Amino acid sequence: MGKAGEKPVLIREDGRRHDGRLPNELRPIRMEVGVLNNANGSALVEFGKTRVIAAVYGPREPQPKWIAMPYRAVLRVRYHMAPFSTSTRKSPAPSRREIELSKVIREALEPVVMTEMFPRTSIDVFVEVLNAHGGTRTTSLTAAALALADAGIPMRDLVAGVAVGKVDGVLVLDIDEVEDMYGEADMPVAAAPSLGQITLLQLNGVLTKEEFEEGLKMALDGIRKIYEMQKRVLREKYMKIKPEV
Ligand code: ADP
Repeated sequence: MGKAGEKPVLIREDGRRHDGRLPNELRPIRMEVGVLNNANGSALVEFGKTRVIAAVYGPREPQPKWIAMPYRAVLRVRYHMAPFSTSTRKSPAPSRREIELSKVIREALEPVVMTEMFPRTSIDVFVEVLNAHGGTRTTSLTAAALALADAGIPMRDLVAGVAVGKVDGVLVLDIDEVEDMYGEADMPVAAAPSLGQITLLQLNGVLTKEEFEEGLKMALDGIRKIYEMQKRVLREKYMKIKPEV
């Protein structure tokens, strides 16, 4: 996204960020599963003002049929920004960015989905960004992992993500749109913590080797917290055993 206006103060004199957060503080996070009636699995995830909904269908007969693979399911992801999700007008046609993010999110999820259990089927993930305020790709894959679990799809682990940035020379966790726009670097990371696998790592901007290592550690610590929240919401939904009457 292009820069607009004068650069705001990103790190205040008291060391806090423009929205009052400490450098290693996540935005307030909200997660809910099973939010849609007409999908096999769904989740709503909010990181501050960024709000994303993910819906999962499948395993089901693939459409078109020729995309079927003999030894595994095909995982398809569509990332889409609602026309009302951004401050500037967004064309309803799929943009290059949406096509790229669909691929990036699919690749971040693929290592954990046990596609080998469902040959000749497709598992379809639809991500709709309802409100964009930075970190939509990491919020989307966090929601998509929850929606896949909610659909009962066997998974090796969950995947969670967050972006680290460098703003006014300081490394900060979970950058928002302002920090993304005016900061020096943006590094989205996703991981499957129990598998010990990083499934997404991108870097926009420049970091020194030391900053990269510190930033990655900061992201993985944040991911661990997000992962614990994911497990909690799934447990809360599925551990509610109704007493027999
Ligand atoms: P991410 O959303 O994963 O951080 P980007 O770095 O591409 O991905 O985008 C940063 C933020 O810029 C988005 O979260 C959103 O708030 C804003 N943004 C992205 N694309 C657009 C767009 N087409 N119009 C307006 N804002 C956008």
